[in-house]
Amino acid sequence: MSKSPQVVYQRLNRLIWLNRLPKAKIMLVENSYLPTCLGVTLPCGDGSAPFARPIIILNAGRFWEKTLLHEMLHIAEPSLLDGRMFDALVERYWNQFKRLTKEPREVPGRMPEPIA
Ligand SMILES: [Zn+2]
Repeated sequence: MSKSPQVVYQRLNRLIWLNRLPKAKIMLVENSYLPTCLGVTLPCGDGSAPFARPIIILNAGRFWEKTLLHEMLHIAEPSLLDGRMFDALVERYWNQFKRLTKEPREVPGRMPEPIA
């Protein structure tokens, strides 16, 4: 199943940040276009940036969903720099996201509903 990065952004924004992040433009680009990194965020909003909304560019050849979460954390916490603390937060939010979006398991010991 292929997911649109725009949809994953909305879902992450809702589940992790309770829709507090601004709308953003997200672009997936080929690995050859972004060969040395997984993602880049062009910020907005402080008057010095030219963009009305943040723009996130993701390397589509890699595991872009988690990279998207990483870039969103940059938008949510602009003063927090990359490093161990940052990665720990990404990991924590990622696990939370996985838990919240997991398909509900069948309750053990329960008979399936008969098909009418
Ligand atoms: Zn980063």
